[in-house]
Amino acid sequence: MTKVLIIGGGFAGCCAAHVLADKGWDIHVVERLPFLGGGVRTFLYGGHPYTFGPRHFLTDDIKLFDFLNSYVPMRRIDQVQQNLTFVGDEQRFFTWPVHKDDISMMNDANKIHQELNECTSEYIDTDNFEDWVAGSIGTTLYEKFFNDYSKKMWSVDSNKELNYLHSGWEDFLGDDQKLKKMELVTGSREHYKKRISSFPIKKNGYNDYFDIATESSHVHLDTEIEEYDVEKYRVKIDGQWESYDIIISTVGPDILFRNIHGPLRWMGREFMKIILPIPQVFPNDVYFLYYATSEEPYLRIVEYKQFYQYEAPSTLLGIEFPSKKNKLYPYPTKTDVAHAQKYLDMVPERVFSIGRAGTYRYLDIDDIIAQCLDLKENV
Ligand SMILES: Cc1cc2nc3c(=O)[nH]c(=O)nc-3n(C[C@H](O)[C@H](O)[C@H](O)COP(=O)(O)OP(=O)(O)OC[C@H]3O[C@@H](n4cnc5c(N)ncnc54)[C@H](O)[C@@H]3O)c2cc1C
Repeated sequence: MTKVLIIGGGFAGCCAAHVLADKGWDIHVVERLPFLGGGVRTFLYGGHPYTFGPRHFLTDDIKLFDFLNSYVPMRRIDQVQQNLTFVGDEQRFFTWPVHKDDISMMNDANKIHQELNECTSEYIDTDNFEDWVAGSIGTTLYEKFFNDYSKKMWSVDSNKELNYLHSGWEDFLGDDQKLKKMELVTGSREHYKKRISSFPIKKNGYNDYFDIATESSHVHLDTEIEEYDVEKYRVKIDGQWESYDIIISTVGPDILFRNIHGPLRWMGREFMKIILPIPQVFPNDVYFLYYATSEEPYLRIVEYKQFYQYEAPSTLLGIEFPSKKNKLYPYPTKTDVAHAQKYLDMVPERVFSIGRAGTYRYLDIDDIIAQCLDLKENV
């Protein structure tokens, strides 16, 4: 029988096991932590459910929503969701993304309007984040809403360093891969007017999915791969070399190939939980607060109740800080992407490197489902 190894039992590893389940193969999911789901797993703190970062499900593709919804009943929130961002030189919150009607309330309103009038071209001829945003909406709005947030998020001195915008900003790429101008929001303040934004209805979030997805696999929790030799279709676990016919990896390709070209560069997040003795802190429709300033060390705050929707006399906030302590965000620079590509070019037949770390791409949950559905066809 075909023996399959899936390295990592996060969303990607579980989803891969799920889509391959009807092949009748002998599938082994190896996860180093004592639970499945990776960053998308819901835990409880003071009776409040939370994940490491919000992990709400966002997609343009109804088929991907239907797929997930058939295993984890989802609540659509696209008709109500608003997000706010705190702007340093204004010392107040504004709707996020930037709304055109808010400009009149900002310092420098005249200057902003003048700059916007000068941003006439449909495409911005640049490869870096700073010039793209400033070229789309002017330097003043860029400075207020983007500059500090992005530098903080990526721990860079200048956003000109971010010169690979093909991952995470795909919506702005034209057919010819040229960057379309970023437009300001007009009309309704709902964040997602076109996309499907949703969250699991149950208080245990996506957790049921990880069990459903791996029902017919052998799951090895608390188990780490000690050595990799995927060129020979084998890995060392508990001191023993184990061989497989197919290997699906969700760990970084640098790990998979023993760092032979040096370690890839990643950005991470740390996460702080704060429980407060009041039923609700955020305004009813607000799901995310972003902090576009260098003064606050954190990037964003979520109130989990907004996503999980339940009654309780207290509430839990999650605060996300940029960090170098874990590897969660691949760097959007040409140098880093080329470095990752060197590894990805080494992936032999019958080995698949998937998931956010495995592809070194800024993938979200919907991208990962799409990738696994493709894998089913191509494996
Ligand atoms: C802070 C944050 C917030 C996010 N919010 C959203 C959101 O709101 N919406 C959205 O769609 N997406 C969001 N994402 C992205 C989405 O959650 C990820 O794309 C998805 O979880 C990636 O799944 P994965 O399986 O590739 O990685 P992971 O979830 O990281 O899973 C990898 C698994 O591999 C295991 N592992 C690692 N090394 C080994 C080893 N050597 N041996 C065995 N096991 C190993 C890990 O323990 C982990 O369980 C967010 C990401 C982050 C970091």
